[in-house]
Amino acid sequence: MIGYAEKIFHLSTRVIDRVTDHRSLPRISTSLIVKAVLTVYWSRLGSLNSLGMTRSAKFWKSWLDGSLCSADSVGRIVASVDAAPLRQGIHHLYNRLKRNKALPDLHGLAVAVLDGHETSASYRRCCAGCLQRTTGSGAIQFYHRNVTLMLLCASPSDRPAVRLLLDLEPLQPGEAELAPALRLLERVLAAYPRAFDVVLADAYYAVEPFINFLLSHGKQALVVLKDERRNTYQDAAGLWAQQPPQQGSYDSRSCHWWDVPDLLSWPEVQGAIRVVRSEESWTVKPQLTKELTPQTTSWVWLTTLSVAQARTEQIVRLGHLRWDIENHGFNELVNGWHADHLYRHQPGAIECFLLLAFLAYNVFHAFFALNLKPEVRRGRTMEFWVRLIAAVIHAIPRFSLTGAPP
Ligand SMILES: [Zn+2]
Repeated sequence: MIGYAEKIFHLSTRVIDRVTDHRSLPRISTSLIVKAVLTVYWSRLGSLNSLGMTRSAKFWKSWLDGSLCSADSVGRIVASVDAAPLRQGIHHLYNRLKRNKALPDLHGLAVAVLDGHETSASYRRCCAGCLQRTTGSGAIQFYHRNVTLMLLCASPSDRPAVRLLLDLEPLQPGEAELAPALRLLERVLAAYPRAFDVVLADAYYAVEPFINFLLSHGKQALVVLKDERRNTYQDAAGLWAQQPPQQGSYDSRSCHWWDVPDLLSWPEVQGAIRVVRSEESWTVKPQLTKELTPQTTSWVWLTTLSVAQARTEQIVRLGHLRWDIENHGFNELVNGWHADHLYRHQPGAIECFLLLAFLAYNVFHAFFALNLKPEVRRGRTMEFWVRLIAAVIHAIPRFSLTGAPP
């Protein structure tokens, strides 16, 4: 994987060696720290103490220009790393993949998904960047939260899709999620002006500042619409009652779709609004009863995409992709990559550890989807490759045989 990343991305020279920090007289190179942390994620070690236990691994000799430092030094130095070069490193990966045509559009559109994510919660420890809330029992809980943007791409028939974690923005104390989301989009749109046409988001983002921000930057929004009190919702609902639905399907579900374009009932939004509703039904056979049981679900989305830009079916497919950031992003980062672990409780360190996790994630998934041949990938789960990588970091030259067992 590292060989692939060096060949395709020039990972060491174009990404790792460009990371800087604000120590005045560093004894340990920043590159060494970045390499060590990427390895923590790739081999899913889960803590800096576990990293310390791998010091004698053969792997380090070929990957580092020196010996591995202590867990404490790794945490301390990451806290002084500059976030900007890490973001530029992620951008460099994107550029190379885009140039190699590895990031195809989804249903004719370039799509990104945005969502908030909480990374850590504690009753005992807090830092200057901690958010806080009072729980039902009256206790104060400290936590960190960020808004993350992920680029979604299509998967050709012979390989999985590549999804790239592009950037994140932490919530500052006292701040709601909208302001950091707009800061994040402002920065990402400056760096990636043509990476996506439409942003998917949950119902929290069905608000005019978010939609107008995207429209004013030439981008479109597709958000879940839940607020039944909203005029737009009521307007659309009035039309559903009169219109016969379109028949359609999503996955193995049969659907009834209503598509109401050109709604003018939200004058604060600087563009035409369209509401799409999907009533979906399917059957499941639970293990316990083995009886076919009908299931239904209902979705309503609000979008600025016109009928010419995306047909009803595309809106429904894109709407469901909003879950990709949960299923393939946050869930995998938390459960697979231990990315919500507090490697060092300090605001700068938390941001940089997460950006390093994004970098590691993007390299791993590019390697998995684009470099492994289909016949090598076939019959082997992603977990297999994760374990294979972990095995490399745990392989030490030879266990000491001194002191024979009794
Ligand atoms: Zn904190």
